[in-house]
Amino acid sequence: MDSSKSTVRAYLVPSWLPEKRMFDHYENANNTSFTYLWRDDNDEKMEPIQLSAKDYISKSMDWIRSLLDDEKYFPTSTEVAFPKKFEKTVKAIFKKIFRVYAHIFYDHFKTVQALGIEAHINSSFKHFLLFAFEFGLIPKNELEPLNEHIVNRLGSNYTKFLNIGQEKVKKKK
Ligand SMILES: [Zn+2]
Repeated sequence: MDSSKSTVRAYLVPSWLPEKRMFDHYENANNTSFTYLWRDDNDEKMEPIQLSAKDYISKSMDWIRSLLDDEKYFPTSTEVAFPKKFEKTVKAIFKKIFRVYAHIFYDHFKTVQALGIEAHINSSFKHFLLFAFEFGLIPKNELEPLNEHIVNRLGSNYTKFLNIGQEKVKKKK
């Protein structure tokens, strides 16, 4: 994670082209474009805010790290029970990481190819997805912007994996 994070950080935002928003050009099935807004998922009172892609990613990475380091969310002792909100927290983390992948695939894939790390990114994305599908961690509507990329990477198995994952999302509701 750390090495890919620094690679991403170094190349994500060329200084001559500040990215104002996170994914403002994505279009859904109804041809309406949408953007991702940032919020602290543990702060239910917080209004989602619009951030630049760079700020969105760096805030998300810091947010995820602070949760992982927090015994309240991720207890390290076997004596301590997992918190009630554990699954909700993990889902929020997966949603944010997925959006970072989405940003890389949409806006920086040429850079990824130029750096020769395409296979690395693809493989880490694939592992990430399979884990997410296995435990139903990402809802279908979140996956939509990357549908095509996901199909390209997981092939025809994608639908199978996706359905298994979505069944689990439904059951847990
Ligand atoms: Zn970017």
